[in-house]
Order: sequence, then structure tokens, then C-alpha cells
Amino acid sequence: MSEFDYDLFVIGAGSGGVRAARNAAATGARVAVAEDRYLGGTCVNVGCVPKKLYSYAAHFHEAFEDAGGFGWRLPAAPEFDWATLRDNKIGEIKRLNGIYGRLLDNAGVRLINGRAKVLDPHHVSVAGETVSAEKILVAVGGWPWVPDFPGKELTVDSNRVFDLDAFPERFLVLGGGYIAVEFASIFNGLGSDTHLVYRGELFLRGFDREVREFTRDEMAKKGVNLHFETNIEAIEKVEGGLKVTLTNGETLEVDAVLAATGRRPHLEGLGLDQFDLATNPDGSLAVNERFETSIPSLLALGDVTGGPELTPVALAEAMQMVAHHFGDTTPEPLDYSRIATAVFCHPNIGTVGLSEEQARERYGAIRVYTEDFRPMKHTLSGSSERCLMKLIVDDESDVVVGAHMVGEEAGEVIQGIAIAVRAGLTKAQFDQTVGIHPTGAEEFVTMRTPARR
Ligand code: NDP
Repeated sequence: MSEFDYDLFVIGAGSGGVRAARNAAATGARVAVAEDRYLGGTCVNVGCVPKKLYSYAAHFHEAFEDAGGFGWRLPAAPEFDWATLRDNKIGEIKRLNGIYGRLLDNAGVRLINGRAKVLDPHHVSVAGETVSAEKILVAVGGWPWVPDFPGKELTVDSNRVFDLDAFPERFLVLGGGYIAVEFASIFNGLGSDTHLVYRGELFLRGFDREVREFTRDEMAKKGVNLHFETNIEAIEKVEGGLKVTLTNGETLEVDAVLAATGRRPHLEGLGLDQFDLATNPDGSLAVNERFETSIPSLLALGDVTGGPELTPVALAEAMQMVAHHFGDTTPEPLDYSRIATAVFCHPNIGTVGLSEEQARERYGAIRVYTEDFRPMKHTLSGSSERCLMKLIVDDESDVVVGAHMVGEEAGEVIQGIAIAVRAGLTKAQFDQTVGIHPTGAEEFVTMRTPARR
């Protein structure tokens, strides 16, 4: 019999924590999870899931406009009711919270409601109890971070934006990352007069330059007011709204300001300061390939370790961690290269592998194939929305090293292409693939002439 109450004690019931707990329990391990907020973590409660639901809501706006060219006459101008969307979303998230609870229960995992504090490498205190465990997993995720400026307290962050009491007719987003472009698109689509303020010359730093420029142009066409190379200097309350002063001297009056300026590891109150654990330059916990921190019984994974902050990455890390610590064989190390991702701005971005800029740096010679076209649907809809598809090929090996798309359902398309890129297929093999007609995605197997080298 083990000297510990549990084989694994998980702090945080988000995507990574729940998957780790369930999979460890399935190996016969005795597992408990502590959670002080909501089951399912950021993704289920204030991230991927509600964001996608709101993105669907925002797309209806265009669908109504597009319908006319196909013969549909809407009886009256459609009206949007924020409270219906928000409250239906709340109901759906409650349902998912319940599913997460049942998943843990069915796996035989004990769920403790409370914020756990690590007392020593094998003990935590939680909800008035002291519990011992052979291994303690820190899977607490991240938390929105907002820079200091006068009036910072008047902003909302991505945890709160979903549940605003009133619909913001005038909306401003600060930032140029995933959350900023997604919420600018969502509120613009829902009908807000929307502004995006970003300190750099072009948002989505790190993405393929052509993808960023194309997205900028499409979002501007849809009516998002883009303010680049400026920042918020101050926000003050004024009659009927908020006055936002930008560093370029411009002022804007809006109803809500979303600060989407990044996320930080959510380590407060966990008691980890006492251990002087090794950290990465961004303050996240440094771990080895077995997900051990510098104290081997303290494990960590997901957003708190500063890797790609994506749910599927946390899930993969959880399964990997369980294989290392509770499995029979040592698994192959996780491959963090060529992880596909989507940004649910409008139109969506889907991307896997290298940007053109990264490929130019890494390879001697590359070929770049691009298609910039009007999707068939918009020949009748009257919409001016265009679609960009792009393949980047290492000229020497002919391997496709990057695939990018900006357009409707880009994430759905790139998920399939990602398997081919992950498998290291060549451009010749893409070309041998017979397309599906008529689709937009068939362009990925019909691009024959490089746009440039
Ligand atoms: P990001 O790190 O992606 O972006 C933060 C943005 O804030 C950047 O544009 C950054 O500018 C800007 N910024 C940082 N500091 C300041 C400052 N002091 N003043 C003004 N601007 C500032 O964070 P997000 O909050 O957008 O999202 C967090 C993470 O969550 C993402 O990186 C992603 O991994 C994940 N996520 C994934 C989604 C998906 O898969 N679809 C959706 C949403 C989030 P600069 O570029 O100049 O540094």
C-alpha cells in the first residue's frame, strides 16, 4: 500500500487537468482533482467553446445579407438580441460543466472544490484538508493580463466579455493577437461599431505576412476600424460611455473596451514561490519531457508551462504525461512542430507549418504557391469577401512545409491538410491528389505554378 493518499493530485480541472486525471485513473492510479472555479477551464468556460458559439452568431449577419442574391427575401431587417445569445451560451456551458463532472466521477476521480496550496513536494492543503500524493500536477492554466494605464479598471478582459450586461453598440479591442482579432470580428458581426487598436504596424505577429495583410484587408472591408501603431493612453468614464485616448492623440467614444493583451500563468496563491522552481523567461513553469518541474514530484502541463496555449496541446501533453508516469513504456517525445491552428476572425484563418518568412530563413530555396479568389458562393451573394490559399514548398526536397488559408471554414480545411503536412508529403503528392469539385479546398491540390520563389 502506498504511503500517500493519492498517486496523482491534479490542481486545475481544465482541458489538461481533466484529461490527465481521467487517463491516469484509467491505469488504476488513485487520483484527486482540485478546482476552485469551473469545470472545463478556460476552453469550456471563457475560451474556445463560447467564442465559437459567438462567432457562429456573428456569421449570421453576413448570411442574411448573402441570402438575397439566392432569392431569399427576409420579411424585415433581422434584429440581434444579445441577452438571448448570452443566456443560451450560459445554459450550454452549464451542460458542459456537468459533463466534465460526470466524466471525472465515472473515472473514479475525486473532485474537491477549492484552490489547492502546495505545502511540500508531496502535500497540498485544499478546502480545509491536507492531502498527500506521490505526484502533484499543476495544470492551472493562464489568466488574462492587462498593462497599466489610467482607466485600466474600466476595461473588461476575455473572462468577462462573454457576459456583458448590455450589448456594446460601440466596441473597442486592444491587442493584435488571437483574442483581439476574434472579438473584433465577433462584435463587428453582431452589429457593434468596432475598433481594434494595436501597437505594432500589423496584427497577428508571427503569422505569415501575406496572411496577416490579407486578413487586415478583409476585416477592414467588413467594417472593423483598424488603428495600428498606437496604444491606449487612458480611458475615462464620460456621459453615456467611455472616452479612450490613444497615444497618437486620437480619441474614441465607445461602450466597452476589451483588453486582449495576452495571458500569464495563473500561479497566485498556489504556494509554489517557496520552492524556487525553474521558470521560462515569461514566468511560466519550466518542465522536462516528462512534464517534471525542477522538483520531480511536482509536474506541470498546459498553458502554465508556456508552450502553445492551445487546448489540443494541453490534451496531448496530459496523455504524454500519463504515459510517462503511469504507463508501461516510454513514449516518443511530443512533436511541437507543425501544430495546426485556427484563428476565428472573419474570415477565419487556418495555418500549419512554416510561414513564408520562416521557410525562407530555414531553407535555401522555396517555392510559394498562392490562390486569391472569390469563392463560388459570392458570385451570387454580392459579397466582396475573398479567399486566400497558400502552400510553401522546400524546393530541394519538394516537401510542403507550410499551408495557410484565410476564408470560410479555414480551420476545417486546414485540419485535413495538416495531416499531409505533418506526414511530410511532397508537392508532387499534393498534385497527385484528385480534387473534390466544386469546393474551395480543391485549390490546395490544383495550384501548379509558383507565384514566386
Ligand atoms: P497573444 O499573446 O496572442 O496576443 C497579445 C497581444 O497583446 C499581442 O498583439 C501583443 O502585441 C499585445 N500586447 C501585449 N502587451 C501589450 C501592451 N503592453 N500594450 C499593448 N498591446 C500589448 O494573446 P491573446 O490574449 O490574444 O491570447 C492568448 C493565447 O490564447 C494566444 O496566444 C493563443 O495561444 C490562445 N488562444 C487561441 C485561440 C485559438 O486557438 N483560436 C483563440 C484565443 C486564444 P505584440 O504582438 O506587439 O507583442
